[in-house]
Amino acid sequence: MTLSKFQEIGRILREQRRFAILGHVRPDGDALGSQLALALSLEALGKEIRVWNEDGMLDKYSFLPRAGLLTKPPSNAEDFDVAIALDTAIQNRLGTALPAVRSAKIWINIDHHMSNPGYGDVVYVDSSAPATAEIIFRLIKSENLPLNRDIAENLYAAISTDTGSFQYPKTSAHTFEIAAELIRTGLDVGRLSQLLYENYPRRRLELLRELLRTMRFQQSGRVASFGLTLETAAELGVLPEDNEGLIDHLRAVHGVIVAVFFEELSDGKVRVSMRSKTEVVDVCAICQKFGGGGHALAAGARVRGTLAEVEERVLKEVCDKVQALAVG
Ligand code: 5GP
Ligand code: MN
Repeated sequence: MTLSKFQEIGRILREQRRFAILGHVRPDGDALGSQLALALSLEALGKEIRVWNEDGMLDKYSFLPRAGLLTKPPSNAEDFDVAIALDTAIQNRLGTALPAVRSAKIWINIDHHMSNPGYGDVVYVDSSAPATAEIIFRLIKSENLPLNRDIAENLYAAISTDTGSFQYPKTSAHTFEIAAELIRTGLDVGRLSQLLYENYPRRRLELLRELLRTMRFQQSGRVASFGLTLETAAELGVLPEDNEGLIDHLRAVHGVIVAVFFEELSDGKVRVSMRSKTEVVDVCAICQKFGGGGHALAAGARVRGTLAEVEERVLKEVCDKVQALAVG
């Protein structure tokens, strides 16, 4: 009898003993919530778990149930039966969590990025899923793995953040059915929403003010961008996590098709974050040209060069694509 992918993963989760549960650098709510949810389900099965992320737990997500389980990887590598990469489009986006796994008999790769090349021994990549947490929920249900309120809260926070509060196009009836089932475990939607969306530090708004000063519109208002220098970031004392979601202010403007956020990094690179309102302009394809990846409507890359150089090169590519749209 051939096993389905979930059956294959379910069997590994039941049979093996020691697990590393990893997520991508600069984690978002989906990476952290998916990591904690799967870790808690495995913990309830009596497994030995490590939950590692290069950046550790972010302050703003520290309210997630059992957030303390998620730590930065140790400097001394450890051995595992199984290492599981969640929400991580390419293996080296695990950052320092990757070398912290000295050995693992089995690598599992669970993700929803269409640019994921399918690294690992057991691969489950579903690019139609709006969040990796939706795949984790389906795995838990189909394999009858433990699901309790703590797990539900982590999954709900992950799905809510990765769907832009149930707004992005991949949000389906099934997504709402999953949310409903999670809510029925007794979680408080109002409380969670407040913790997720009405709990920002004031400096995040100060950062937005500075970003808006650099705001630029091109292609008759169809391309919008802003940028952040290291100097401004230092002056404001911003943390990398303060950025998440600010680009949505650009995308939310009438007429904007593509929004781009440039952030100068200390390693001589610029972090590029891109959003599109239409699959006709596939920002994953644009970011892949610069060595990055992601989804058709949300993608990113890290590009070597000064802020001004990278802005010019990347915006030229975006403007060419948007211009072609009008002609074609
Ligand atoms: P964000 O703009 O929120 O950082 O990322 C948007 C999407 O693009 C995420 O799904 C993220 O995984 C992906 N992404 C962001 N930066 C990179 C990158 O440098 N490389 C790759 N492969 N994907 C990225
Ligand atoms: Mn995700």
